[in-house]
Amino acid sequence: MSYFSATLLGVTPILVEIEIDISSGLPFFQIVGLPDAILRESKTRVKSAILQGGFDFPYEQRVVLNLAPSKVKKEGSGFELGLAARILSSSGQIPAPDFNVLFLGELALDGGIRSIPEVEALAFAGHTQFSRGIKIDLIVVNKEDIQKISHLGIPILGVSHLSDFQGKRWWELETPPVVTQNDIVERKSSFEDLKFSEFWARHLMIAALGGHHYFLCGPPGTGKTFFAESLRLLLGSLNSKPEIERRLLNSVFQRPSCEYPWAAPHHSASLCGILGGGNPPRAGAITRAHGGVLFLDELLEFSPSGLDSLREPIEKGFIEIFRAGSHVTFPSRFQLIAATNPCRCGHWKDLYKQCRCMPTVRQAYQARMSGPFFDRFDIKVFCKRTETNEKRVSGTEIISKMKALREEKTEPVWTKSASDGLEEKGNRQHFNFRTYEKVRRVATTIARIDGYRSIQLKNITEASAYQVFKGLESRI
Ligand SMILES: [Zn+2]
Repeated sequence: MSYFSATLLGVTPILVEIEIDISSGLPFFQIVGLPDAILRESKTRVKSAILQGGFDFPYEQRVVLNLAPSKVKKEGSGFELGLAARILSSSGQIPAPDFNVLFLGELALDGGIRSIPEVEALAFAGHTQFSRGIKIDLIVVNKEDIQKISHLGIPILGVSHLSDFQGKRWWELETPPVVTQNDIVERKSSFEDLKFSEFWARHLMIAALGGHHYFLCGPPGTGKTFFAESLRLLLGSLNSKPEIERRLLNSVFQRPSCEYPWAAPHHSASLCGILGGGNPPRAGAITRAHGGVLFLDELLEFSPSGLDSLREPIEKGFIEIFRAGSHVTFPSRFQLIAATNPCRCGHWKDLYKQCRCMPTVRQAYQARMSGPFFDRFDIKVFCKRTETNEKRVSGTEIISKMKALREEKTEPVWTKSASDGLEEKGNRQHFNFRTYEKVRRVATTIARIDGYRSIQLKNITEASAYQVFKGLESRI
């Protein structure tokens, strides 16, 4: 058998094999394989817990524990249970089963086994998707942690004290291994109770169906933030059964397992907080948004260089962070939703209020976003106030339409006349390659929503209109 524990490299769980060498020689106890500071403290806890658990520590011998692979930096105290178990079996004090075991638990000085907050994320290391061909047959954790990892479908043994390992076949004794598949409880979202103008209802559907990057500009009170919050609720209620990757990220960030990924960093957030960084490297907002939405409210208040540095992860879908001795890749595929006032006072082009900004100040404010960054948006809309007598669409209607659309397997086709129509429009409006692609994708989404089997010219016209944006002076 082999003994394993786990660590996180960025947001990727990695199995760590615990190897041991006990030999005669000068008494010596060492843990090697890039342990961090907490892990070095583990030595004391492991020794003490072994004694308090009613076992002997091989004081008279040379004990070297190696954590492999050695090039991966290990963090946290979840290794301790595995280290103790490895010493006990190698010194012949507990029997070893003939299969692979993943141990995740911290030790107390009195031999107690503590639960660890990141247990779910670490336990994913034993999942076939991350275990690199190694089959984990049993996970040993604190009893309180069983429920958090039971959905993985790997047998679990819950323990609470090292003395639980006393006995002939500890893996069969005390608590029998548990295998349960707890299904996610569907939440009823409050989206169903909301009402939207036809304008916002349409954009919610386009955004939710196509996953396009949205730029929303308009005076305060036109519903930009409400749109973003509603989109979050809508996407959340359409995605009740998350994939394994989402569950892993939710467990890394300690969010509820069914939560739709969403990150909304404040404009004063540091670049490190947004992109990720530090030593050891930590994930930033763009990784918390992976598989979901990154919402940047008050976009023009963000630092111009910060916005520009988002271009690369938007394009690639991941970000690489290099720090002394470590190189970590964080995933960052998200839908970007950005909202902004058109000027500092907020009322430029407002039908109800005069803008009080000096034209030069206003232009400087609008120029805080570079052209290449602005080009990343698939849809740019200038938001107007909803009139009180406008027709409203209920959240229930939107949800039922979205569910039907998502079940529709066939995509509307691009006929020759549709392609010619796009070409002609592109020539007239001087589309670049990127714009063509965007109009093509957005027009397809619109045709799906409007129930066409082939793309119509009016779908192309609407999609192109979202490219031409007259809401900012500097971009006209
Ligand atoms: Zn103004």
